Amino acid sequence: MLKTVDLSTFDEVNLFFDKAADRLGLSNGLREMLKRPWRELQVQIPVRMDDGEMQVFTGVKVQHNGARGPYKGGVRYHPEADREEVRALASLMTWKTALVDLPYGGAKGGVQVDPGQLSQSELNRLTRRYTQNIEHLIGPNRDIPAPDMGTNAQTMAWMMDAYGQMHGHTPAIVTGKPVELGGSLGREAATGRGVAFRLQEGAKDLGMDTQGARIVVQGFGNVGSWSARIIYDNGCRIIAVSGVEGGVYNAAGLDIARLQEYQKMTGCVSGFTGGEPISNRDLLELNCDVLVPATIDNVITQDNANYIKAPLILEAANHPITPEADRILSERGAVILPDILVNAGGVVVSYFEWTQNLQEFHWEESRVNEELKKTLLKAYHEVRTRSISEGITHRQASFEIGVQRVARAVELRGFV
Ligand code: NAD
Repeated sequence: MLKTVDLSTFDEVNLFFDKAADRLGLSNGLREMLKRPWRELQVQIPVRMDDGEMQVFTGVKVQHNGARGPYKGGVRYHPEADREEVRALASLMTWKTALVDLPYGGAKGGVQVDPGQLSQSELNRLTRRYTQNIEHLIGPNRDIPAPDMGTNAQTMAWMMDAYGQMHGHTPAIVTGKPVELGGSLGREAATGRGVAFRLQEGAKDLGMDTQGARIVVQGFGNVGSWSARIIYDNGCRIIAVSGVEGGVYNAAGLDIARLQEYQKMTGCVSGFTGGEPISNRDLLELNCDVLVPATIDNVITQDNANYIKAPLILEAANHPITPEADRILSERGAVILPDILVNAGGVVVSYFEWTQNLQEFHWEESRVNEELKKTLLKAYHEVRTRSISEGITHRQASFEIGVQRVARAVELRGFV
């Protein structure tokens, strides 16, 4: 990525943590304990490929903090999903689940692989072997994986099946599964739906009319496409979206429903005739009112922060903005709603899915969406109140609330 300072993504997330810990006055011991992952495992994943050759992949599982409940976090399939990256994502899950007040800790899994290069049967074998190799760390009351970048409901179905072969039918072992296998209605769209709620709240605070606003979404995977679709259905104008191969731009607004159909047929957004081509870099720097990065981390760094024009940025991706870029943008007056606040919709509905599985009961989609809205609004209200009363950014307020709750749980358990 465009990083110029030699810090890992985990180091960078910890800079945000340190700021919160300083202001909360945490002791050195507690700070060290909260910063470092509780447990990590690296595994070898040998996979027989379709051509008969064996390829060996590397997988990791990081359990960052479990003071507030079972570990929770997605599984990422990406060539850069190494231990440092997964540590960063696991720690963000700890602060996120605490911020939205779910009875979970934070974890993440990752396999260094480009899933686009593997067939479905190769992905099935890889997922089963990864599940077998981390099986002793996961469980419905221990650690409950979910989809993240490069994985989806099908991946969760394979994980559930592989775990079930060892432990018997256990739908609560993963969330984000297909509805036919016990997944929750509304889970697939939940992260995007949460982003759309945040847009309404953030815009209201800035006195911005979303109906006329120009919105740019980087990424058109699970989070990007659902965010764009729900925001579009709410009557807003999405002027650009992109995938890894590039994007599409139309100043008058893209027809997101048609674009989704196009992506279903071609597998990408580039080449769509309802707009003109645009690169990922140019897309971030477009003149717009709201920017929604929804891909990988570190896409906005000190190299391009000065060219970002959006006054409101919603971090749908995890850690899309480096701390240095965060400082530059905040000093320029941009309002940034942070990842742990903006993309929490997914884990909130994962929690609803887990509770439905444990109770062997199904909720209507309307109930899922109502409860999601209630949970997210409460968290936003808490962040907004703290940010105003303490004169701090939304990111600082979000981290402080999350860190404070986890620190309290650690103290109550008698660890320190
Ligand atoms: P996905 O795999 O469904 O989609 C990823 C999108 O990013 C695709 O459009 C892909 O083309 C694009 N992309 C990949 N690499 C890119 C690059 N180098 N430059 C530009 N675009 C690139 O993944 P997702 O589930 O939508 O996750 C996206 C982000 O949202 C990640 O940061 C993830 O951690 C975060 N997130 C996901 C969920 C969830 O429920 N899936 C929940 C919370 C946060």
